[in-house]
Amino acid sequence: MIRAYIREVRESFSSLLFPPVCSFCDALGTEEPFDLCRSCQCALKWVSPPFCEHCGRPLVGLSSDGINYCGRCLSAPPPYTRARYAVFYEGGLRDGLLRFKYHAALHVGGTLSALLIEAFEKYWRPEDFHLILPVPVHRKRLVQRGFNQALLLARKLSRVSGIPVAPRTLVKIRDTRPQVGLTLKERKINLSKSFGIACAQDVRDRSILLVDDVATTGTTLAEASKTILDAGAQSVQALALALRADGAGSSQPSHVPETSA
Ligand SMILES: [Zn+2]
Ligand SMILES: [Zn+2]
Repeated sequence: MIRAYIREVRESFSSLLFPPVCSFCDALGTEEPFDLCRSCQCALKWVSPPFCEHCGRPLVGLSSDGINYCGRCLSAPPPYTRARYAVFYEGGLRDGLLRFKYHAALHVGGTLSALLIEAFEKYWRPEDFHLILPVPVHRKRLVQRGFNQALLLARKLSRVSGIPVAPRTLVKIRDTRPQVGLTLKERKINLSKSFGIACAQDVRDRSILLVDDVATTGTTLAEASKTILDAGAQSVQALALALRADGAGSSQPSHVPETSA
């Protein structure tokens, strides 16, 4: 009892001397559960319904027939069973992710993985999956950056959910140019056959959760899912921390012709 009291007093003094700093903007004073300042916490934009049942991208309005699929998924559904995203890639979240990814600000990883875990718990249960596969980066990029941000996020999710993570099963066999600025068609060509499976036994007849940090059009998730399914997986679902809304715009519901790029 007295020990717990002393610990509490010590912790409250140390938080006065070293007040916690916001992971995204360095402002003093943070809030649970994401260790963000009030302003960054408030500015988080969660990806919430209405969105396409299949690809998880926001829909502009709901279809009158109750079918909530975007035009793209109705005409050419991506190979994964469904994809979901935690938050939109904008504001403080974008700053935090860039710090994490390019400046190796690994302390931001705690906040980012807490957001990812929050989204996972919204859509799935741990027993839905046998294995988590992070979207890999090519060896060349790994040498430049020193770590794979998707793997760090996947590891934290694995620790909380108990689903094992396989860091070296899905591999990037071909280095590809950055997807930013490419059209949907160019993205598909750029990524075509760029993933491989190191050991098909790892995924055969298994339910896989694919994890990535940022998705734009979902081309990466689709191409990686195709590779995993071709190797014999039972199903693939995808979860990305952030969705770039600028990639292809919001999708139209099924009864309206698709106009996005
Ligand atoms: Zn902040
Ligand atoms: Zn869709």
